[in-house]
Amino acid sequence: MVEINGSRLEARLDQFAAIGATPKGGVNRQALTEGDRHARRLLTKLALARGFDVFQDQVANLFIRRRGRYDDLPPLMMGSHLDSQPTGGRFDGALGTLSAFEVLESLEDASVETERPIMAVSWTNEEGCRFAPGCMGSMAFSRGSIPGEWYEKTGSDGALFANELKSTIESLPEAPVRALGFPIYAYVEVHIEQGPSLEAEGIPVGVVTGIQGTRWLDIAVKGQTAHAGTTGLAYRRDPLGALTAALAQLYHNIMPSDPDARFTVGRISASPGSVNAIPDEVMCTVDIRHPQPERLDEIEKEVISAITYTADLQHCDVDISRTFEMPPCTFNQNLQEVIIAAAGQLDLEWKGMLSGAFHDALFVNRVAPACMIFVPCHKGLSHNEAEYVDSLHALAGCRLLADTATRLAAYGL
Ligand SMILES: [Zn+2]
Repeated sequence: MVEINGSRLEARLDQFAAIGATPKGGVNRQALTEGDRHARRLLTKLALARGFDVFQDQVANLFIRRRGRYDDLPPLMMGSHLDSQPTGGRFDGALGTLSAFEVLESLEDASVETERPIMAVSWTNEEGCRFAPGCMGSMAFSRGSIPGEWYEKTGSDGALFANELKSTIESLPEAPVRALGFPIYAYVEVHIEQGPSLEAEGIPVGVVTGIQGTRWLDIAVKGQTAHAGTTGLAYRRDPLGALTAALAQLYHNIMPSDPDARFTVGRISASPGSVNAIPDEVMCTVDIRHPQPERLDEIEKEVISAITYTADLQHCDVDISRTFEMPPCTFNQNLQEVIIAAAGQLDLEWKGMLSGAFHDALFVNRVAPACMIFVPCHKGLSHNEAEYVDSLHALAGCRLLADTATRLAAYGL
């Protein structure tokens, strides 16, 4: 077992939280901005000072590599991301990236020689708030190429992805650029839970069994605009009446009858949007999540049939399109067992749990055994400047990562 240096990890978390620090104690270090580049330069400097190899790929994923005895073996990889939301917290991503780096440093401090190389990675643009989609770095790594349309993407601030990517890579001349995608042995990511359950149950670590699937729908209901005062019930084709009736039924049915289901309407609009006119068209988005693919299908069908039914009653037309789909992912069972054995040895109470949010591990899982370790965050708050992780929990996550890494390095999966 290798001893991590807890005070060093805490100091590193403070050091990185100062980059892009916001007045309310959070960070604004959005992907491929000057703040993001600053954090990448700092991590590179720290890594080179320890004698580790540092390189990046064409999507600016940043890799730190500690050599192994059999250095040609596919590396064990750990990591997360250093980019943040505009009003993000200081632990989301940074905890996993800096925990991975702490494990490399601890191995170096103890002069442990591992069989295979061990790497820490900071994936590019996990958050997806400046340039959509999120998880660009891990997605491109897992498919071995960058989708051509990404280069044309315009950021929330008007910047062009292609330019920002190029400048970010060029701002780190110490890190040579290597080909995108390479074989890895396994991947482990520490991350804050971003939900309340670990804290509420008083459990210090979660072993993540998988990530629930997601579907997004765009729904348009079309009726006829008419005078609010003169149009009687029999003459109305009211799309808002139809949509709200369907939504009321869906809110009442979907989540209350299935604790694993998530149903969210995040955006709704009516046109022409006049106080005294029946709208001619209303639109809304729907976000459906579930760990089981067949339930995703069922819920999607339920949404479509409820809206079609109520629209029909109002003599309205419906146009529904699926704009995004991410199938559920199940993390490698053997890797989960290794983490659970490590938690046992460290006397850490743990529970198996699903992730409600996407993470880079979802994409890495497509090319190598992957798994995640969750630590509690206060009140489940994340994507929020008030995000807070108790240092005992941060250290527990890092210790578990270190023990998992040394087990994998010694015994394999
Ligand atoms: Zn994150």
